[in-house]
Amino acid sequence: FPPGATLRAEARIDLDAIRSNTRRLGQIVAETGSKSAAGVMAVVKADAYGHGAVPCARAAKQGGAAWLGTALPEEALQLRAAGLTGPILAWLHPAGGPWDELIVHEIDVTAYAPWVLEEITAAAQRCGIQARVQLKVDTGLGRGGTQPHDWLELVELAAKAEAAGHIRVTGVWSHFACADEPGHPSIRAQLDVFALALAAADHAGLRPEVRHIANSPAALSLPEAHFDLVRAGLAVYGLSPLPDTTPADFGLRPAMTLTARVALVKNAPAEHGVSYGHIHHTAGPTTLALVPLGYADGLPRNSSNVGEVLVGGARHRVAGRMAMDQFVVDLGDPDAVHDVHVGDEVVIFGPGDRGEPTADDWAQATGTLNYEIVTRIGPRVPRVYV
Ligand code: PLP
Repeated sequence: FPPGATLRAEARIDLDAIRSNTRRLGQIVAETGSKSAAGVMAVVKADAYGHGAVPCARAAKQGGAAWLGTALPEEALQLRAAGLTGPILAWLHPAGGPWDELIVHEIDVTAYAPWVLEEITAAAQRCGIQARVQLKVDTGLGRGGTQPHDWLELVELAAKAEAAGHIRVTGVWSHFACADEPGHPSIRAQLDVFALALAAADHAGLRPEVRHIANSPAALSLPEAHFDLVRAGLAVYGLSPLPDTTPADFGLRPAMTLTARVALVKNAPAEHGVSYGHIHHTAGPTTLALVPLGYADGLPRNSSNVGEVLVGGARHRVAGRMAMDQFVVDLGDPDAVHDVHVGDEVVIFGPGDRGEPTADDWAQATGTLNYEIVTRIGPRVPRVYV
């Protein structure tokens, strides 16, 4: 980090929590999985949901993750470049590759349309190396994946390329639309379509090593969706993907604690407008503390007047607008003893065990998901691994 960076703010990442959460997921899928051998793919896309891809991938593997998963090919290549071995799956491919690099580095790529499979097969021929390919079916998410009515075409194309020795079909997979709403009718419907897709692949002679459909919510709540592998992101980082639950309900521990250090403490009179737009006015004479973290660092701008932080042993609201680099907290009556000084730690969110808000609290206050709260913490905030 540049000199002084961590004096402003830092995101502390508890790698032991990542290891322990991954182990916990491993236990859950081993206990309740429809197959005793169900394993864990740690999803480390988007810089491990803001936690740092390489250290978190290492920690997840230490916790027993057999696979790593990324959206982008460059994210998968970053893991290989850092020396991570073992199976890695990437699933969102721009036209044009970089197929050769992915094949050479033995990264499983995802064919979700015939054109993808054709590009991969051509690259495998060019490299003289068999490509590892997983086929993705859209069982009802309505996003990526081959539509069920085009599935047979993809499967037959894959079987031909496999017979010719250009590819090896290592997996067949899909993704849920509403796994975070247990009991939603689309869940059962997707499992039914997935069963048909697996049967069609089998009929075409494909024998994938792994079949998978479960994300974190399905890993935690839907044993019949575990198959050979669960692709878990959020739960690895210790957050709960299911409504009205806490991480502790599943034996998970949030891995990220976001802190900043007070940059200024000053007194202000009553009726003092605070920050852009003056959407907060002091109720009486008060003490204001300036926190040097803002929406450029990933804090939602709509946390203005609603987000809470822990400072001086108490929770205080963001007072007025969240700005690009900073916000203010209104500590109240300056005659009261405020144990808050320049350089003191402000906890924006963390596991919650010291009374600080959690990522869930921030998500609720700002009308978003805990996924977004951690993932959007930007590159100006140094990650410190503990
Ligand atoms: N699988 C795919 C295809 C995804 O896009 C994601 C993330 O959105 C995941 C798995 C992991 O989801 P979660 O973080 O809910 O475990």
